[in-house]
Amino acid sequence: MSGIVHLVGAGPGDAGLLTVRAVEVIARADVILYDRLIGPEVLAHARSDAELIDVGKEGGGPQVAQSETERLLVEHGGSGRRVVRLKGGDPFVFGRGGEEALVLREAGIAFEIVPGVTSGIAAPAYAGIPVTQRELSSAVAFVTGHEDPDKEESALDWPGLAGFPGTLVFYMAVRTLPRIAERLVSHGRSPSEPVAVIERGTLPGQRTLVATLADVAERVKREGIRAPAITLVGEVASLHDRLAWLEARPLHGVKIAVTRARAQASALGATLRELGATVIEAPAIRTVALPAEVPDLSRYDLVCVTSPNGAHELLTRVYDARSLAGVRIAAIGPGTARALAEHGIVADVVPDRAVAEGLVEALEGVSVDHALIARGSEGRDVLPDALRERGVEVDILPLYKTVAEPLDEETREAAASADFVTFTSASTVRYFLEAAGPAALQAPRIASIGPATSAELREHGFEPDLEADPHTPDGLVEALVISAGRRLA
Ligand code: SAH
Repeated sequence: MSGIVHLVGAGPGDAGLLTVRAVEVIARADVILYDRLIGPEVLAHARSDAELIDVGKEGGGPQVAQSETERLLVEHGGSGRRVVRLKGGDPFVFGRGGEEALVLREAGIAFEIVPGVTSGIAAPAYAGIPVTQRELSSAVAFVTGHEDPDKEESALDWPGLAGFPGTLVFYMAVRTLPRIAERLVSHGRSPSEPVAVIERGTLPGQRTLVATLADVAERVKREGIRAPAITLVGEVASLHDRLAWLEARPLHGVKIAVTRARAQASALGATLRELGATVIEAPAIRTVALPAEVPDLSRYDLVCVTSPNGAHELLTRVYDARSLAGVRIAAIGPGTARALAEHGIVADVVPDRAVAEGLVEALEGVSVDHALIARGSEGRDVLPDALRERGVEVDILPLYKTVAEPLDEETREAAASADFVTFTSASTVRYFLEAAGPAALQAPRIASIGPATSAELREHGFEPDLEADPHTPDGLVEALVISAGRRLA
């Protein structure tokens, strides 16, 4: 059986810009040969048993020679495996994809080209710069700024480029930028023409500098712009001022660590990312289901659910949904109510304040004889105590427990260097401090979801810099936006 090699463009960096086809072939690959700018989120689509080979090239000095990469492609492709050759951006745009395809054809190995979003278009787009624009530019040229070292540099047609009627997009041009600007001007391009240099396009920390051909070299040096960067010459560069959307996001450039369990972190992380934050996933806890059996719920007149996880654990174990027919259901907050709704249950009681005290208050006028509290094994006693005080018979059903999730050194360091570390429960505080140590909270500002979490922080000697109100993930996001000194759009 003969194999196949997919030459795949991984896009400019933001893993959200991978194509559907790229994800498909990455997920099926036996072997993946990848370049330097390919991030871990892209490789996360690979099978856990896939062989990952780093053939990245650092700076200008090749780590793995092109001939060796090509030999590996032929070897793996020829031995019947599914091979993905992952390249930054588009494989056929300054990516040597054409050369590799020719080698595969010669060797009689089947291949497929999966185009990618090229950085020369994506980085400007993320900077709010359209590469073409009616009345400003009706053509665009992609140019390599640092050519094959074997080639004479003058292989570029400078008079032709200077006279090109449209936008010029240079790849690999940070070191050679002074010479590029000089030559364009000496061949007749206006020194006052706008130039944009976009560093780390679509990646966390993207920076855009807008200058002119006359001063771009000096400005780039002064600002310390480094590779990878795209240099764009043309009138469209001036649109950055009006169309910059990335920088306008309320949490742009703010680094936020999320400590909640991985399963729940993604929604909070996604919201924060959408607001422009750089999110560090540092899950300090994990929940583990307990082998509890759900009693006959028709025996109760009230069931309280105190977390989204509790809602899922309870309702996936209910044997007959009709046992809930006559039972009043209380959720501690909107997230838990949403989790119940996913199982077809509309909560009867949802307090304004998403804490146990709020639920106690909301239940004040409700007549109850026999209540069940479905929750984690380490829940607070506020709710059962208050109900018992009212003469209610209370049963507690522990459905899951929270355990520590170890954090590797890289994650601990990243969290310690964040602008904010967020805590969404007392257990995230306890286990994060256990895993990362108190030093990790010296520099960052501390964001707490509510009073119980804040109390736990104080117990460990930390005063939260902000506390969410309402005490929900959305409330936390809003408090972060305000604290970061900007307002929600
Ligand atoms: N095939 C790639 C280009 C490879 S050449 C593509 O289609 O995008 C490598 C050059 O691409 C870098 O030197 C830099 O100029 C540019 N580049 C790649 N990723 C970039 C990014 N995220 N931001 C800015 N420039 C990038």
